[in-house]
Amino acid sequence: MRIGDLGSINEKYEMFINFSQSNDIDGEFTFSAKDNLTSIDYESTAGSKILEGYKAPFDATPIKRMREAGGALIGKTNMDEFGFGTFCTNSAFGIPKNPFDLNRSCGGSSGGSACAAAVLDDHVSIGVSTGGSIVCPASFCGVYGLAPSYGRVSRYGLIDYGNSLDKVGLLSFKASDLRRYLPIISGKDPHDPTSYVQPELKLGQKKLKSVAIPKEAVKGDGISKDVMECFEKSLEMLRSMSIDVEYISMPTLKYSIPAYYVIATSEASTNLARFCGMRYGQQDGDLTLKFDDYFTSFRSKYFGDEAKRRILLGTFTRMVGYADRYYNKALQVREAIIADYKEQFKRFDAVVTPTMPFISPRFDDISKMSALDSYKADFLTVPPNITGMPHMSAPCGYSDGMPIGLLFTSDHWNEDILIDAAERWDSAFDVRHAEVKI
Ligand code: GLN
Repeated sequence: MRIGDLGSINEKYEMFINFSQSNDIDGEFTFSAKDNLTSIDYESTAGSKILEGYKAPFDATPIKRMREAGGALIGKTNMDEFGFGTFCTNSAFGIPKNPFDLNRSCGGSSGGSACAAAVLDDHVSIGVSTGGSIVCPASFCGVYGLAPSYGRVSRYGLIDYGNSLDKVGLLSFKASDLRRYLPIISGKDPHDPTSYVQPELKLGQKKLKSVAIPKEAVKGDGISKDVMECFEKSLEMLRSMSIDVEYISMPTLKYSIPAYYVIATSEASTNLARFCGMRYGQQDGDLTLKFDDYFTSFRSKYFGDEAKRRILLGTFTRMVGYADRYYNKALQVREAIIADYKEQFKRFDAVVTPTMPFISPRFDDISKMSALDSYKADFLTVPPNITGMPHMSAPCGYSDGMPIGLLFTSDHWNEDILIDAAERWDSAFDVRHAEVKI
């Protein structure tokens, strides 16, 4: 199968960290995978200098299953270091460029996957979401993104960010690819105990008939005017597809960002402890130093700023005496948010909001944002992620030539409804291709 010259495509877009050097590859279809999923043939760096040169001895389960179904892995996609970011500007290996405007972000942290899905013909990319990393880049790059229920897809071979939050999913230009590939990567895996809680994935049984719009998420000035206008038009379109649309109240949503950043950084800070220059990747630490000095100097050299910030924050929120005030409190907030969603799903099939509050920002504007500004930009994608509920972003309009996304969230294990929504939306809405010139 011919895949074209990935080298020149990548020079322009920087969507891959490592990719196939051959223009011909064996397989029935091509796919790429985020670089925090291990593969035996390409390096797995998770976007971090600390893992540069690391080749895993096994394929992550979702990659293994795609290969067994006839897929050819053509590259490992660029990402924010360990998944820490919203704009893919925290990678140690270049910054992916938005296919609709090279001066703008692809979104994060699966930015390279969204870029590949938008730029390459007939291509599906495996992404990972902890707090929005599939749907955010899907929205910014004008493709479909599906993050399934927590536990649906095995995390074996995933370089973890936050173990109680991480979900492996799909990004693609075609809505029909979600139906095609989700069953391949899903299912129980003896290597991942959380995959055993899932009921069987049944597609083609449920339809999207009603949606709820949480007032707390869309009222006020959190969402830009162009995104809001597009969102309102999308609601009209849903109504014209005979879907009931109703505004509701979800008072717990406002607590989701603080709870998420406490849980995510607490878990990340323990996960990153294994990167000490003795097991994986770089191993050039000065072994004559005392352990603490060795550990500090090695990690100071190779971790990026955002990784360091999260280690500090997460270590603090787990400290003796603080865990009840932060981590354990955040877990209680998560339960309250889950209960709030479950209440809505008694009456509605999905909760709908815009995916991101603005179109993809320019790199010079991103460089002026504080860490807090960037965390706050996740207020629409974090709620479904913190609950482990499946969610999907569909392209729903354009402003300034840049795509806007519509976010659907359904109850646990109801990916079926989202796939139905994606396909019906796809036949009603004219999704634009980015103009790709190499
Ligand atoms: N932007 C969020 C964060 O930085 C989510 C990233 C993700 O899902 N990996 O944590």
